[in-house]
Amino acid sequence: MRIGIVGCAGRMGKMLVNAVLDGEGCTLAGGTERLGSDALDRDLGELAGRDRVGLPVEADPAALFQRADAVIDFTAPAATLVHADLAARSGRVLVVGTTGMSPADEAKLRAAAGHAAIVYAPNFSIGVNLLMALTERAAAVLAEDYDIEIVEMHHRHKVDAPSGTALGLGRAAAAGRAVALDEVWCKSRDGHTGPRPRGEIGFATLRGGDVIGDHSVIFAAEGERVELTHKASSRAVFAKGAVRAARWAAGQPPGLYSMRHVLGL
Ligand code: NAD
Repeated sequence: MRIGIVGCAGRMGKMLVNAVLDGEGCTLAGGTERLGSDALDRDLGELAGRDRVGLPVEADPAALFQRADAVIDFTAPAATLVHADLAARSGRVLVVGTTGMSPADEAKLRAAAGHAAIVYAPNFSIGVNLLMALTERAAAVLAEDYDIEIVEMHHRHKVDAPSGTALGLGRAAAAGRAVALDEVWCKSRDGHTGPRPRGEIGFATLRGGDVIGDHSVIFAAEGERVELTHKASSRAVFAKGAVRAARWAAGQPPGLYSMRHVLGL
């Protein structure tokens, strides 16, 4: 399977290049970067910290979609929409890890998924996807007597908050309680907030240093507290999961899939 990486010079892009080069049964179809990037024309292997592979970083994603069976995209929302359009036109598999997508962006992704298999997940690690399934189950068992708070911490470079994973955990908790997340969420608190409303799902965001991604879901009642926690210590887990998703999606009809479909959770 030929896999292309858009945004290949990013923190995740380099991990993805390595995961494809090390992955069984897949070859690297190429990689792109935005116009003006210093990485353009550099060798993809060298960029990813290994031997040359004879593929230069390109600027034209359309050509990459023609050559690849699947494209993996961990970039930024505006770029991801361009790539989703190219996936819809070419019918190629697209794996999207980009976070910070607005509801309107997600609607465009869904429309593109009418023509191509797209796997979209705020977090491609197996552990976090298990955490999502456990969160949904716990929220179904622990009724509104248990206040749900989701705490996340990421490195200082992260630009969106709360993290896509935290919001995904919130959606899982809301699904367990059969409510819509955007009707019960509180994404941040400041000043005189008054007492906590029953049934609210709260978020708290921490930023600093080089933290790759910590998430906790806390169910707090009078007299006891249940805490479910995941800590990522290497970005490689996201890259490996994304390559696994690309291989799984190759056999699927057009549609919008999540990592829970890929893992059968
Ligand atoms: P980064 O800023 O290091 O990398 C993004 C890369 O995309 C940059 O190299 C940038 O130049 C490139 N880019 C931007 N526009 C482009 C375009 N039009 N064409 C080609 N390349 C373009 O960021 P990062 O830490 O690698 O994270 C990227 C995204 O992935 C973020 O949204 C982040 O939240 C998300 N992320 C998701 C997961 C997951 O498992 N789903 C895990 C980690 C990060």
